This record gives sequence, structure tokens and C-alpha cells, in this order.
Amino acid sequence: MLNLAIIGGGPAGLAAGLYATRGGLKDVTMFEMGMPGGQITGSSEMENYPGVAAVMDGMSFMAPWQEQCFRFGLKHEAKKVEKVSKNEDGTFSINLEGGQTQLAKAVIICTGSEPKRAGVKGEDEFFGRGVSTCATCDGFFYKNKEVAVLGGGDTALEEALYLSNIVSKVYLIHRREGFRAAPITVEKVKKNDKIELVLNAVVDEILGDNSGVTSIKVKFNDGSTKILDVPGIFTFVGLNVRNSIIKDEDGNFICDTTPTGQIKVNLKMQTSLKGLFAAGDIREDAPKQVVSAAGDGAVAALSVLSYLESLND
Ligand code: FAD
Ligand code: NAP
Repeated sequence: MLNLAIIGGGPAGLAAGLYATRGGLKDVTMFEMGMPGGQITGSSEMENYPGVAAVMDGMSFMAPWQEQCFRFGLKHEAKKVEKVSKNEDGTFSINLEGGQTQLAKAVIICTGSEPKRAGVKGEDEFFGRGVSTCATCDGFFYKNKEVAVLGGGDTALEEALYLSNIVSKVYLIHRREGFRAAPITVEKVKKNDKIELVLNAVVDEILGDNSGVTSIKVKFNDGSTKILDVPGIFTFVGLNVRNSIIKDEDGNFICDTTPTGQIKVNLKMQTSLKGLFAAGDIREDAPKQVVSAAGDGAVAALSVLSYLESLND
């Protein structure tokens, strides 16, 4: 029986792992289906973590986090969690891919979020063959070529800036005039000669052949259309929370959630279900920042320590 199961190994899960194990808790396992580090490992530039003045890519930024946790005894199981459920005796069952089940006295859900699909014709067909959601992973394939970026948030603009250092031109396509991204980033984009803004427009269709994407059809809000001959398009149209593991057989959530599926928590990161905690992007009102996800993880772990102590009273 685990004392604590942490589901997800992004900034929230790793911070929770550090605070739980350094707080003296034994038998703590972090279930992370991929490489620990979370979605920030797909970012080309990280520059707003307090105390870390050097600008670095997300992968380099996260590398020491796991090393630090493992030193204090956190175990990493590289498995996907399929489902979390509460048993009658108050423990939790963690169902893993492949059919195994682990038991835990407490659980912290840190499953974060994943890129949304834009819902454009051709997007699924050409995903991985010209359509991408990761500039650091795929940008280099388009060295000295023209690419398109779709979206007007922080991710789209930051990644357009990153791509502009590799490709010959970036068409930044956004459905309205104003941007959701931070003003400082918008200014950088507007000053960048290699980025052409294509505003009040959406992508109507992604076209291609056996080799992958060859062009995209852009549709402006006034109804006019234009073909851009690009071999690649990066879509950054927001995130979906990963909450499927807290659904029961009937599709109901095992704890309270918001209408958009984020987990409701109190200031101790406790959910409405005793012994179940949530931290990071998955929780309601998450600022979706590394620093806040890490803070949540630390709070959740400290709350778990108190919770487990209370079970012994
Ligand atoms: P995540 O980072 O999403 O980690 C969740 C982890 O859980 C993932 O590793 C996933 O593999 C794992 N997981 C999910 N489901 C399961 C399952 N069923 N079983 C096992 N494992 C599972 N924030 C900043 O502060 N500064 C920035 O500059 C910045 N830039 C960004 C750039 C990009 C391109 C993106 C996408 C995000 C950026 N963010 C930035 C936001 C930041 O990355 C997130 O707020 C933060 O990573 C959230 O951490 P988390 O631990 O809650 O979740
Ligand atoms: P986001 O803020 O939700 O922005 C998504 C963008 O995509 C919006 O501009 C939206 O347009 C557009 N969009 C949505 N659906 C679309 C569609 N179907 N077709 C065309 N455009 C569409 O997502 P994000 O940029 O990934 O950021 C997610 C969170 O992470 C945010 O909280 C962000 O601040 C944070 N983040 C922070 C940093 C940083 O701190 N440096 C970096 C990256 C991300 P509208 O604007 O018109 O809605």
C-alpha cells in the first residue's frame, strides 16, 4: 500500500513529490506516463520563474526537478493511470494501463492539460505530417521554409517568435484584431520582421498530399479566402484539462468539478472527496503557470502529510 500516489509528473507533481518525501513520507510513487517535466518541456523559452534569471528551454529547466525529488526517495512509475476510485475502507485504487492496480492512502491529481485541436478540416489527417503543436520538437524540420502559426495566446506568440529564428517566414493567423497574449510578447511579435500577421482570419482547411501538408486555406471574417503555400502549420489554440481518470464507470466525476471539468479545491488543495487532492493546471482557477503549479504541489503535499497523520489519531 502506498502512502501517497501522485498522478502526473509536471511541475505540480514533481513539487508535490519533493515536499512529501522531504517531509519524511515513505512509499510515495509518482505515476507519469511520459518523461517527467510536464508540458513546459515543449516550450522553447522559460523566463518567468522567480529566482531563475537565465532564459532556458523548458526541457533544460525541468531536468533538475526530478533529480532533486528522486534524491529524497520519490519513486517514478512510467505508467499511464486509467482510473482513480475510492474504496469502502477509505483507500484509493489506482488502475494502471495493462490491468495492474495499486492501492494508496492518499492521492494528488496533477494531470495538467493538453493542446486542443482547432477542429480544422485536414488537421487530423495531417497531424504529425505538417501539423504540429510543438515548435521545439518540429520547428527544425522547416529550416529556411515558410510556416503558419494559428492562435493569439501566449503559446502561439511565443512559439511564433521561436520559429522566426529558424524559418524564413511565419504567418501568424488569429481570428480577431486583439491578442490574448501578454502585451510584452505582442510587442516583440509586432517588431519581428519575419512574422506576418494575418488577422481576423481562421484556417478553413489544411491541404496536402502523400508527403504531408502543402498549403492552407485561410478564410477572413469578411468571407474572402487566400491560399498560403506552407509545408507546416503549428496550432496553439488553447488547452483541455486531463480529467478522464477521475470519472467513474457512469462517466460521473468522483469529486466536484467546474462546468469545464477543472477540479474544485480549497486553499489546501483538498477536493470534495476526503484523501483526494489536486494541484496545478487541472484545478479550478489555475493561473496556468509553472510557479503556481509548483506552489500548488507543495501545498497539496503538506496537506497530505496532515491528512495521513489524522488517520493515525
Ligand atoms: P503539466 O505540465 O500538464 O503536467 C502534467 C503531467 O501529467 C504530464 O507530464 C502528463 O504526461 C502527465 N499525465 C497526464 N495524464 C496522465 C495519466 N493518466 N497517467 C500518467 N501521467 C499523466 N508557464 C510559465 O510559467 N512560463 C512559461 O513560459 C510557460 N510557457 C509555456 C509554453 C508552452 C508551449 C506551454 C504548453 C505551456 C507553458 N506554460 C508556461 C504553462 C506551464 O507549462 C503549465 O502551467 C504547467 O506545466 C502546469 O503544470 P502541471 O504540473 O499542472 O501540468
Ligand atoms: P489560450 O490562452 O487559451 O489561447 C488560445 C488562443 O487560440 C486564443 O487566442 C484563441 O482566440 C485562439 N483559438 C481558440 N480556438 C481557436 C480555433 N478553433 N481557431 C482559431 N483560433 C482559436 O491558450 P495558450 O496560449 O495555450 O495558453 C494557455 C495558458 O498557458 C494561458 O493561461 C497562458 O497564459 C499560459 N501560458 C503562459 C505562458 C507564459 O507565462 N509565458 C506561455 C504559454 C502559455 P481568442 O483569443 O479569440 O479566444
